[in-house]
Amino acid sequence: MLKDTFGRTHDYLRISLTEKCSMRCFYCMPAEGIPLGDASKIMKKDEVIAIAQTFVDLGVKKIRLTGGEPLVCKHAGEIIEALGQMPIELAITTNAAHIDKFMPSFKKAGLTNINVSMDSLSEEKFNQITRRKLFETVQNNIKMLMDDGYTIKINVVVMRGVNDEEIVDFVNWTKDTPIHVRFIEFMPFDGNNWNWGKVFGYKEIIEKVSNVHTIEKLTDGPNSTSKAYRVPGFAGTFAVISSVTNPFCGTCNRMRLTADGKIKNCLFGQEELDLLTAHRNSESIEHIIRQSVTNKEKRCGGLPEFENEEEIKKKMSKRSMIRIGG
Ligand code: SF4
Repeated sequence: MLKDTFGRTHDYLRISLTEKCSMRCFYCMPAEGIPLGDASKIMKKDEVIAIAQTFVDLGVKKIRLTGGEPLVCKHAGEIIEALGQMPIELAITTNAAHIDKFMPSFKKAGLTNINVSMDSLSEEKFNQITRRKLFETVQNNIKMLMDDGYTIKINVVVMRGVNDEEIVDFVNWTKDTPIHVRFIEFMPFDGNNWNWGKVFGYKEIIEKVSNVHTIEKLTDGPNSTSKAYRVPGFAGTFAVISSVTNPFCGTCNRMRLTADGKIKNCLFGQEELDLLTAHRNSESIEHIIRQSVTNKEKRCGGLPEFENEEEIKKKMSKRSMIRIGG
């Protein structure tokens, strides 16, 4: 098993398939996009599958595909189907703009755990945030997934003065619709102009909802990143991912594999070890994976408290969100 020095077992791998995306969400990357890395440095289809297999051999039980937007990766369908053959829970986080084309691969792979990123219920605001006009496409694809019996989680990055006034609207969406809305606190990444003032935190979110609805706390899973709630009688639920105001590192079981084949032991950590080069040299990567887990900090990659903005900006990961995959 992959255990760190704090006794945490790491059995959940998030794989970023690409640094490309069909949207330009301003909290993820600059409008002009990011300078794409050298394509030869990006993992190829067979490399993703082989490296993932090594992680599975080391005890990984869940793999989540991310990006950029994973479904703009040329070989996404083949990778999904191949990973679907492994003894794991396969999941994906997507902007849902292309999902209709991948339903056959999802079915073949038995992929049912789908998180859709959508930060506004207003078409105008959605277009502002994503800098693309894909609101209707995304809405239609969400409806298609639900009609097809998929249980959907909706990831909403909450930013003060941007979409915090929609929090209750998102919760109201769960009245008759069995979806799970997850409010994600705005996190600092390279190039996203983060500051403490823009964080609309866990307590404020719960207060906003409680001012309108009675809510009940639900039981969270052992390694859960979210704190879940329900409005009694509503078909769906909502939750808060409080990475900034109330981090949940004590039960962290997550590792990340970037599209250029680096292992990151923490979302916020600066350290990243190169697996791809060793793999391409037909060298074992197991010891590098173990080293990465051993090196893991207790909390938030060793970052100070997030209120300490200047220190955060000095010490945070030098990667933009799109190059980590959340
Ligand atoms: S901040 Fe790092 S250690 Fe904490 S939960 Fe996230 S990935 Fe895990």
